[in-house]
Amino acid sequence: MSPHSPCDTLVIGGGVVGMAIAYGLARSGASVEVIDEGDEAFRAARGNFGLVWVQGKGASCPDYARWSRESARLWPDFARQLSADSGVELELSQRGGLMLCLGESELAQRVKLLESIAGEAGEPYPFEVWDRTTLGEHVSAIGPEVVGATYTPMDGHVSPLRLLRALVEAFHRLGGCLRSGLSVRDIRRVGEAFHVSTGGQPHVARRIVLAAGLGNRQLAPLVGLEAPVRPNRGQVMVTERMAPFLDLPTGQVRQTGEGSVQIGDSLEDVGFDDRTTTRELARIADRALSCFPRLRDVNVVRSWGALRVMTPDGMPIYQASRQCPGAFVATCHSGITLAAQHAGAIAGWVRGGEAPRELASFQAERFHVQSS
Ligand SMILES: Cc1cc2nc3c(=O)[nH]c(=O)nc-3n(C[C@H](O)[C@H](O)[C@H](O)COP(=O)(O)OP(=O)(O)OC[C@H]3O[C@@H](n4cnc5c(N)ncnc54)[C@H](O)[C@@H]3O)c2cc1C
Repeated sequence: MSPHSPCDTLVIGGGVVGMAIAYGLARSGASVEVIDEGDEAFRAARGNFGLVWVQGKGASCPDYARWSRESARLWPDFARQLSADSGVELELSQRGGLMLCLGESELAQRVKLLESIAGEAGEPYPFEVWDRTTLGEHVSAIGPEVVGATYTPMDGHVSPLRLLRALVEAFHRLGGCLRSGLSVRDIRRVGEAFHVSTGGQPHVARRIVLAAGLGNRQLAPLVGLEAPVRPNRGQVMVTERMAPFLDLPTGQVRQTGEGSVQIGDSLEDVGFDDRTTTRELARIADRALSCFPRLRDVNVVRSWGALRVMTPDGMPIYQASRQCPGAFVATCHSGITLAAQHAGAIAGWVRGGEAPRELASFQAERFHVQSS
């Protein structure tokens, strides 16, 4: 059977990680094809919360804290470029983010966490602790249980569906080819090329990037890599539109550009089950009501569950295969936050540029058990 025409790089997975890398590669002039399984697959990119979020990330791993911060710093330029390339407005708002705390012990724990990240950062890590009075100057009508909040200026939020649409649109405009509804079943190295099988003619490329989210677990060993990812469910709900009341996103509640309020999200270890449960949605809603009592009078119009792509320590895996040079894996549970790094530094590294220095901390070997 004759293969498809060869391309420079084949990205497996058209979620937000794969599309950001594919967009970055296409921007740099590479010929790129993306293969995506489509609606049959679990797709975190279509069910997430939309935060560009640094606050709290990287406790005991300064490289992850730095990697996330750098992505947040790059986001405004990335968004401008992507909007220009795609014609899609992303609804990015990045004026900082809040974690509201219910009770003094929650606030104390939060402050301790941020102090420890700041202490290890090796560079300024700006954050502020707001008491109720300061919080009241920025957010109106908070509930009586809220004792304060932590604020970091680098955080923000974006419409995740617009982001994905923009990446796909820009990728097309730059000459990229996205094949949807195909599931990769096998990958073989033939000479200097990779032959990727989806059941019909093989797709041939000089380089491949595994960005298949939860699918990476099965695909990575085919090219001498590892991706021990597992699902972690998050449930989210969204209300009808409200008059603007919340300028800054919080970790659990954000008001979108259209006025609807997104409320989330749970962290549940329930395997490959992306259904919603009344119990968890009620818990999430309760907390949101404690923070913003005005939500009591609005209707929830939609709720959903989606599966995070979680590594054992919650940090990304980016790795080049030693066994099969030209094969890469990229996977993480903060694909929105890290989109700017994926389109920039990671795409450049895949194209043959230098590996960003943080990548040493993101190799899968860190999960190997050390024998004594
Ligand atoms: C509830 C929830 C809230 C979240 N909130 C945030 C947030 O606020 N901020 C943030 O930064 N991140 C957030 N995330 C995480 C973010 O959504 C993920 O990091 C991101 O979607 C992962 O992207 P991905 O492309 O790796 O995986 P996915 O989006 O799951 O995409 C993987 C793609 O690979 C394809 N695929 C799988 N197997 C194959 C195969 N064999 N062949 C071909 N294609 C295949 C699938 O079709 C799929 O489209 C959240 C996630 C969840 C679930």
